Amino acid sequence: MSAAIRAARFIPEVLLIEKHSRLGGLNSYFYRNNTLYETGLHAITNYADPGNKQAPINRLFRQLKLRRKDFSFCQQIKSEVVFRNLESLTFSNDFDVFDTEIRKKFPRAAVRFQEMIDFINHFDPFLPSPFRSTKFFLAEKLQAPLLAEMILCPLMYYGSSRENDMDLSQFVIMFRAIFQEGMFRPRGTIKEFLDLLFTHYLEMGGSLRKNCGVKKILIRQNRAIGVELEHGETLECDHILSTIGHDETLRLISGAGASQSTDLARLGFVETMYSLQHKSTPSLPKNKTIIFFNDGERFSYKNPTDFVDFRSGVICFTANFQGLPQKSMMEIRSTHLANYGKWKHLSTQPDRYSCQKQDTSRRSAQMLENLIGSFATNIVYEDTFTPVTIERYTAKINGAIYGSPEKVKDGNIGYPNLFLAGTDQGFLGIIGSMLSGVSIVNQHILPKL
Ligand SMILES: Cc1cc2nc3c(=O)[nH]c(=O)nc-3n(C[C@H](O)[C@H](O)[C@H](O)COP(=O)(O)OP(=O)(O)OC[C@H]3O[C@@H](n4cnc5c(N)ncnc54)[C@H](O)[C@@H]3O)c2cc1C
Repeated sequence: MSAAIRAARFIPEVLLIEKHSRLGGLNSYFYRNNTLYETGLHAITNYADPGNKQAPINRLFRQLKLRRKDFSFCQQIKSEVVFRNLESLTFSNDFDVFDTEIRKKFPRAAVRFQEMIDFINHFDPFLPSPFRSTKFFLAEKLQAPLLAEMILCPLMYYGSSRENDMDLSQFVIMFRAIFQEGMFRPRGTIKEFLDLLFTHYLEMGGSLRKNCGVKKILIRQNRAIGVELEHGETLECDHILSTIGHDETLRLISGAGASQSTDLARLGFVETMYSLQHKSTPSLPKNKTIIFFNDGERFSYKNPTDFVDFRSGVICFTANFQGLPQKSMMEIRSTHLANYGKWKHLSTQPDRYSCQKQDTSRRSAQMLENLIGSFATNIVYEDTFTPVTIERYTAKINGAIYGSPEKVKDGNIGYPNLFLAGTDQGFLGIIGSMLSGVSIVNQHILPKL
């Protein structure tokens, strides 16, 4: 949608085509019992005060001609990285909190950590470059394996499409986005956030077709000339920007073949949302927003052999943001790595699939209770989604939230007027995908007008 808004500022006829009945993609919403639930929102990264003109979020707002004052944002209270029985690190939107924690808990790595910060501050992650291993970089830079894993845990969970490593540029982007800038959420729901963007898009003159999947991208003499929709209609156009994923896009082009990324595993996740009455949870933390945890001896971020790897994950208290109005209900969300193949296989047997989801929810709650205290007996409503759910609602191959392990950083997939933006261009998360949309329109479409 941000790509469409940016394009609509300069191009009279922009059409956004969405397969689903609602906008938002991975970060959308649904209703159960007349209550709105967000599909995924934990926190938005890249927080910056409105006065910080150079901050990515403020640059993004300017590019989209959005006014910050039309949006009300609530910052995280504080978050934690917890490696149970080993160490914990607190961080917030004030980087000094994290810095002080590291000096206190890893005094022998303090000087090296500062050198790493200097490196990050001077590194340009947007210059196209081949993959560089962050694991190798951190091992050399910090010489503190536990600290390196504790830094990687949140960054991988919120932005790595690769098993057990991430590209150094991606690491720098995520380190800035999460630790140096920080996290927030809109004061209202994700629906209100999306509605604001959508109204703005309409005001710019853009149009939308919902419930409208693209079946084919039509190519003539190596140029995209239009799309064929699932219901058979054909639309012609001058430029196409695809945000559905790299392989997903190539699949729509007959004869294009698959990209080269297929030998690396795509990562899947399960997420359970536990809804509780506020008054039934007096002992749960009220001052923590997100806990990234690891319970194993080493932090392992890879496709699990079983349905779910409960040893690590994310716990989000969606009510624990500064200034967020208190509601009668509160939510705890848990996220773990999950094996798409196993879930997909089981999904052919709906009863067993459903039992496995219930078992996942129960075991996840047990794991969470070890860290935050008991709550499971007070759950009023719960919902678990698997990689199969993601695949069904967003058409992401293998339900991989972070898409292909190989990114196409310049958005160029071999056609002069068909480009890739969003997750598989390499900017992950909500702000990342929005920035990606804007930057690909700027780089490839606006100069050709
Ligand atoms: C549970 C969960 C929690 C998350 N939490 C956070 C968070 O707290 N903070 C954060 O920053 N990020 C979070 N994310 C990640 C974030 O949602 C994504 O990184 C971001 O939405 C990616 O945007 P995108 O535009 O690249 O792709 P998508 O959101 O996948 O959008 C692609 C769109 O294309 C549509 N589409 C697919 N195929 C077709 C077709 N053939 N024709 C037409 N349309 C098609 C899909 O329906 C979808 O709407 C979360 C994701 C999930 C699933």
